[in-house]
Amino acid sequence: MCGIFAYTGERNAGEILLDGLTSLEYRGYDSAGIYTPQSGSVKSVGAVSHLRRKMPPGFFGTSGIAHLRWATHGEPTEGNAHPHTDCTGDVWVVHNGIVENHKELRKRLEAAGHTFVSSTDTEVLTHLVEEHLTLLRQGSEGQEPENIFEKAAVAALKEVKGTYGIAIQYKHDPARIIGARMGAPVVLGLGEHENFIASDASPILRHTRQIVFLEDGEVAVITPEGHTITKIGGESVSRAAEQVDWNAEAAQRNGYDHFMLKEIMEEPDAVRNTSRGRIIDTDGLAKLGGLESVAEKLRGIRRVIIVACGTASYAAMAGEYMLEENARIPTEVDIGSEFRYRTPVIDEGTAVIAVSQSGETADTLEAVREGKRRGALTLGIVNTVGSTIARETDAGIYLHAGPEISVASTKAYVSQLTALALLTLFLGRQRGMSVARGKEIAQALRELPGKIEEVLKRSDEIRKVAKKYANTRDFLFMGRKYNLATAFEGALKLKETSYIHAEACGAGEMKHGHLAMIDEKFPTIALAPSDSVYEKNMSNIQEIRTRKGPVIAIATDGDDEIRSTVNDVLYIPETIEMLSPILSVVPLHLFAYHFAKQKGINVDRPRNLAKSVTVE
Ligand code: GLU
Repeated sequence: MCGIFAYTGERNAGEILLDGLTSLEYRGYDSAGIYTPQSGSVKSVGAVSHLRRKMPPGFFGTSGIAHLRWATHGEPTEGNAHPHTDCTGDVWVVHNGIVENHKELRKRLEAAGHTFVSSTDTEVLTHLVEEHLTLLRQGSEGQEPENIFEKAAVAALKEVKGTYGIAIQYKHDPARIIGARMGAPVVLGLGEHENFIASDASPILRHTRQIVFLEDGEVAVITPEGHTITKIGGESVSRAAEQVDWNAEAAQRNGYDHFMLKEIMEEPDAVRNTSRGRIIDTDGLAKLGGLESVAEKLRGIRRVIIVACGTASYAAMAGEYMLEENARIPTEVDIGSEFRYRTPVIDEGTAVIAVSQSGETADTLEAVREGKRRGALTLGIVNTVGSTIARETDAGIYLHAGPEISVASTKAYVSQLTALALLTLFLGRQRGMSVARGKEIAQALRELPGKIEEVLKRSDEIRKVAKKYANTRDFLFMGRKYNLATAFEGALKLKETSYIHAEACGAGEMKHGHLAMIDEKFPTIALAPSDSVYEKNMSNIQEIRTRKGPVIAIATDGDDEIRSTVNDVLYIPETIEMLSPILSVVPLHLFAYHFAKQKGINVDRPRNLAKSVTVE
């Protein structure tokens, strides 16, 4: 999920690769590493500058591979840093993504005598290639088979389930590098007597602007003088290079104007990656490896407290409804900065769950520590592997949403909701949720990414609505039940990125005060999907319209009726009620983005705010 970069040519690969890694650093990193067949490998924890300091004098190569790691499996240590190698030290791999079936493969390879030295999922790839090299040699009666490296690499990739953007190098064929893509981006850069493979064009652009974008299921081979692309099945692919005129920064944003928009567009993948390998459709179960060690303890939990701050606390709010309604566990949400000052009542039957993108949020961390001191079982739902919250909690669920750069969190929010839905399925099935209901949730989770894609296609419509309200200074967001959380998240996103006044309230709370503010200049964004509280929401919308307040509704596809009551409608596809906040927030993220953009604000760096809030 972070960065790969490979070079083959005539110049010094060491320098080229290090420079390239620097321009990939925006993707987030926890360690870096480099390999050339001539000089071997160097790895270090932390930024590329650390790696640079560790480089021995005279490090050289005319080809090589390099990596920035954003750990998903195994702590961010030097031992887990890429490039990884096999038992012989001949096969070298850099990998972005997740090898989902790494456990089974590792077991098989260990049984066959392979020795693993890291705790990453990636290392299985090196031993798999090694195994196939051996098998190919065995079948060829003493003669080295033609293209053995390519054949072994493809055979290995055929065994892998999961996502990868990958570069593989073989010591005995140093000029040739293999790249492959499945769910994680890979591009080729075509130069003069040199070629490149990278996660995006940003490290390549200073050398060449001729870029070929690989597609999922494709394998590329580069040498200094050429390249080939084939499908994993063997069929050859011909694709012309594109002349990319972006500067390096635009390439980092993948051509989008802002990281915030890029990350909103990545929301389908974020949900996919959070649920990948974790849904067992046939039994309606969630498989959460990170909770295995405490699964029995969780059976005995009588109460859940979710602690979080900001956007994560709104994901927690929806999580509270999911857990109570579907897993029947009493659940409450507390914001991290309040929790420890109110002397919470906690006993051993309580689980304290911390939700934090960075895993470093100081207030949430202190809340977890408070929970621990008072004897609670602590769990973390975090994006950053090896972060403090991940380390200090008893067990947890990683989001695998990939690095988030924009200060305003978007894709991490939908991932947090997805993780909470998986947790609900996990705990619910432990305590009496029927198989049928489990299957229904599993199926709906699977369908979500495609449905988010549907909403993203409507971005232009949402932009037009944002434009219509361009001069508005105040917005009210209103929702009920699962979408109360969405109202709060929608309002926060607008405040963060547009600096205007936006507030949220429960639809039923309108009549207890908020309604007094409403007039023709004070619009409401009303969450009104077709769910169990639809009628109630419609009554509240009616009350606003009676006071001449404009209303933008978020409604379910097919609800044409609502048009006659409200001023504007942004539609979302249908899903089960519990998962509706994962869809309904998407138009609100886009709305906040377009609204802020038309004001000329740099949405990626809102004033006065920081990405990871490590102060209390
Ligand atoms: N899953 C691999 C690891 O944890 C790759 C992570 C990445 O994309 O950087 O090492």
